[in-house]
Amino acid sequence: MSILIAEVRACQGCGACLLTCPEHAIRPEGGTLRVLADRCTGCGECAEVCPVDAIELVEVAQ
Ligand code: SF4
Ligand code: SF4
Repeated sequence: MSILIAEVRACQGCGACLLTCPEHAIRPEGGTLRVLADRCTGCGECAEVCPVDAIELVEVAQ
């Protein structure tokens, strides 16, 4: 089984993804963002709202 996990790159810090994530899986950390893999369901909502396409969904084996 595999799931999709958001990977944050080139974040501009607008905060839209944090507010959008239904699982509260995105956390600010050290000036960037971290996606909590055990919470992320791969729904893709964060990637849709990111204005600079900084979030990429990557497939991760379980
Ligand atoms: S893919 Fe969905 S669950 Fe995962 S971080 Fe983005 S909004 Fe949250
Ligand atoms: S929506 Fe995009 S630019 Fe805004 S905080 Fe999230 S990853 Fe960064």
